[in-house]
Amino acid sequence: MSDIVIKNLTKKFDQTVAVKDLSISIEKGQLVSLLGPSGCGKTTLLRMIAGFEKQTVGDIYIRGRLINDVPPQRRNIGIVFQDYAVFPTMTVKDNIAYGLKIKKMKKDEIEKKVAEYIKIVGLTGYEKRLPSQLSGGQQQRVALARALIINPDVLLLDEPLSNLDAALRLKIRKEIRKIQQQLGITAVFVTHDQEEAMSISDKIFVMRKGELMQSGTPQEIYLNPQNDFVASFIGRSNVVYGEVKSVKDSKVFLYVNGIEFKASKNGEAVKPGDKVWVSIRPQRIHLGKSDNMANTGKGRIKYVEYIGSEIRGEIELNENLTLDYNSYMLDENSITVKFNETIPYSISPSDIN
Ligand code: ADP
Ligand code: MG
Repeated sequence: MSDIVIKNLTKKFDQTVAVKDLSISIEKGQLVSLLGPSGCGKTTLLRMIAGFEKQTVGDIYIRGRLINDVPPQRRNIGIVFQDYAVFPTMTVKDNIAYGLKIKKMKKDEIEKKVAEYIKIVGLTGYEKRLPSQLSGGQQQRVALARALIINPDVLLLDEPLSNLDAALRLKIRKEIRKIQQQLGITAVFVTHDQEEAMSISDKIFVMRKGELMQSGTPQEIYLNPQNDFVASFIGRSNVVYGEVKSVKDSKVFLYVNGIEFKASKNGEAVKPGDKVWVSIRPQRIHLGKSDNMANTGKGRIKYVEYIGSEIRGEIELNENLTLDYNSYMLDENSITVKFNETIPYSISPSDIN
């Protein structure tokens, strides 16, 4: 069953169309991400779900109830923002208890619930501290507990990890996901970070300039991007543009910057003369000798980085086409490359799509 249904939602600020005719459904108990570059309308969409912003056109339903005219405090939504937004003069305990006091819950029940949620977010022992005596990650846990304790229908998170350092971001991200799954709560997670979205979402909605570009599970979107924006935004990829020369047995022969490629453009009907984009994942470029007969040539290594078990860099196939490559060093026989070295490469047609 869908917990949140959004139909033809548009939001205009004067000339700016922040969200444009957007329709999505979010299943109960799922964590979905709104993913897109800065300014694409993610926060605006979240604020409309929360009721802080009124849409110009369209409908929002939560658990089957049309909430267009329901004020924020009566939507039963929990929210976590990027900048923590905890009350600075209240202790951890009082911050977390706040929503229950507003609801006039009995004192001993509040005590019990607060203890439970302090444990869920891992803040046991910090009850009496003020936010200024906490790290960013701990403050964000307070915000999370405060949002969850009211037992909301929906949890909204707007870039909740952006102010944390890299290591903490990974840790809290995992905790958020575990807690969300443990409680079975429906959550909408806003991020501009594709890796973050890929790692914690049941489903991703990719947005660009207020519009929905594609939705699906992380795997679906990664394996089958439906346009060049999604292909280049999700995972690392070489998105290049070429012209179809011929089509034969579901293989497409095309020219990209003077190089002929044999490709498989998934499920797409193309004909000679069409201008097309293709995506080549860096790890699909095979460096060194191989038995592969298609898409072979010699390239020049223009950049190389050794990162643990990986080599990453750029390979120039000709003066107009340089691609990112990514090779894994699995054993001592694995390929090593040097700057400016000329090296054979090959790419399987099924990896150009
Ligand atoms: P994101 O969260 O994806 O970075 P936002 O939803 O914050 O994007 O913004 C989407 C667009 O709407 C941007 O062009 C932004 O400048 C504009 N916008 C957002 N809020 C307002 C506002 N209150 N008044 C005018 N323009 C706004
Ligand atoms: Mg935003």
